[in-house]
Amino acid sequence: MNVFELRRKVILCTTAAALCLVGLVNAIPIAAQDQDDEVQMGQSVFDQLKAKGEIIESSPLYDQLKPIADAITRAAQPRYNHPFKFYLVHEAHPNAFATPGGNVYVVDSLLYFVKNTDELAGTLCHEVSHTIHHDTVTLMEEEEKIRKREIGATILLGPSRAQFLAMLLLGKLHSLSYSRDVESRADLTGSDVCAATGYNPWGLVWLFQDFKSARTEEVPQLLSDHPNDQNRVNALERHFRRNPSVFKKFNPDPKSATPFVVPKNAPEVFLH
Ligand SMILES: [Zn+2]
Repeated sequence: MNVFELRRKVILCTTAAALCLVGLVNAIPIAAQDQDDEVQMGQSVFDQLKAKGEIIESSPLYDQLKPIADAITRAAQPRYNHPFKFYLVHEAHPNAFATPGGNVYVVDSLLYFVKNTDELAGTLCHEVSHTIHHDTVTLMEEEEKIRKREIGATILLGPSRAQFLAMLLLGKLHSLSYSRDVESRADLTGSDVCAATGYNPWGLVWLFQDFKSARTEEVPQLLSDHPNDQNRVNALERHFRRNPSVFKKFNPDPKSATPFVVPKNAPEVFLH
């Protein structure tokens, strides 16, 4: 740091630092700033998962995931301006989650949990759709408003806004609670994405139906917010009926699906 930088910093710090920071943040065009926030939020989550040793760097399980991930990326990428990347992670409960910036995390046990390829594809299409709709950022911005009210201007002296949003996201990563409407919207976009990949969009409906009568602790977290939500299934079926040119060719019978087979106790090498 040179003298000028130091002097600038001192001035910044001594003359209403909060106002200066607000000014700087406001000077950045909103769209660019939001996009940058998304990448930074995603990177913070990646760094944290990596630090916890959860990210699987290599495993034969990737051979199973890759064709699905590649097909979803081809279908979904035109709708989002950062590259989608899929990572396997090792966590206690079967789950999948997507973070702003394009990363999609698939818990290894989810691969053992789904009955067929279309259920896995449907789940991942749903998660990718949350990213396309910027749902996580919107949720964290709501959270930010609440927290700002609680702690006042002090946060402006601390980490940047993106870091602050990332911090909120890390705290809530496994308890993100979207409204039914937001979930349903991700279902519908997810089914469009899935149809474009060629995987059967009924996969998500089958997954809902599989766990309709299951106990909450058995249900993957990604479904557990609204586990018995017939409304979501109804909305999907309505969407399929209204768009026969897209969906009519897909068989609604789960017996028509190809079982998803993964090697048992597949070795996993973790990213450090
Ligand atoms: Zn969701």
